[in-house]
Amino acid sequence: MHPIYAGAEASLSFYPAAFLRFIDETSIFNPDNIYMMPSIHKAGFVNILGKPNVGKSTLMNRLMGEKISIITSKAQTTRHRILGLLNGEDYQMVISDTPGIIRPAYELQKSMMQFVRLSIEDADILLLMVEAGEKFDEEMHGRLLKKSEGKRILIINKIDQQKDPTGIEKLKVYWENVLPSEEIIPVSALQGTHTEKILPSILKHLPEHPPYYPKDQLSDKPERFFASEIIREKIFQTYRKEVPYSTEVVITEFNETIEIIRMRAEIYVERNSQKGIIIGKGGKALKKVGTEARKDLETFFGKQVYLETYVKVEKDWRNKPQKLSRFGYNLK
Ligand code: GDP
Ligand code: MG
Repeated sequence: MHPIYAGAEASLSFYPAAFLRFIDETSIFNPDNIYMMPSIHKAGFVNILGKPNVGKSTLMNRLMGEKISIITSKAQTTRHRILGLLNGEDYQMVISDTPGIIRPAYELQKSMMQFVRLSIEDADILLLMVEAGEKFDEEMHGRLLKKSEGKRILIINKIDQQKDPTGIEKLKVYWENVLPSEEIIPVSALQGTHTEKILPSILKHLPEHPPYYPKDQLSDKPERFFASEIIREKIFQTYRKEVPYSTEVVITEFNETIEIIRMRAEIYVERNSQKGIIIGKGGKALKKVGTEARKDLETFFGKQVYLETYVKVEKDWRNKPQKLSRFGYNLK
């Protein structure tokens, strides 16, 4: 007998006598054979939530070990829910990164908030992320979280910015009091400090369930989606003010051969003046976006990429629900 189960015979007495007759040497009900039982499988939806810029996408990428969600220093670049799958022999975590929690100012943001609400409701585990120094916000944290039925793990991010060594303990105590959670884990998503504690904690609270997706899949989003997100990231890094928020990227061609992927990307803006800004003097700005995006695309897809970019004007697309649905922002 395996030492872990030493003494397990005693538990046989818990079975009704009539039932005991059926417990023979090979039965899984026989504690001697527990180690032979097929191990249970856990699976569930793990959703990362928090205000813009707290580091959700950075954490998502760290958990996935691949750059699949875009990161920039500007708020609200993650507009869609992004599902990443983390598979182990006996578990599957379906992890989603969400747009930051914001107040809807126009149609686009309303649609983004639908993703946020949905991801609160369908979560088995919420990874609620706050950053060091952030305070509890009744409207943002309290109101939204009332709808959640899943378990909650609170991640306090950016502890690398904490100068005072007792500060982290104080932060934990503060959040324990205002927002009770299953667990509180202070981390630096950027530097990878303590982030290794997150997966075991998720696994502990993950429900028993068969896998939701085939176990060899990394994400449920098509490759085109990642390609457009990578290009959007470069746009956010290249242009100022509202221009990046007025753009959308649609991959209209994606042809993959063994050696190369040929892609055509259309960059939509709302006004002619923005088109000029995107292209830049002598096409310089757009060229920079294209070159940098191509480098990241090649790393992401692991092969050579040929990228063509076009800029198009689609007047006021952010305020027109039917245009938003063309870009894939509606849920149904
Ligand atoms: P999101 O809007 O919540 O998805 O946030 P991002 O992941 O896009 O990160 C926003 C900014 O915070 C980026 O500039 C990140 O590099 C930065 N950031 C993320 N995690 C950390 C961290 O642990 N420490 C510090 N100092 N910065 C971080
Ligand atoms: Mg993000």
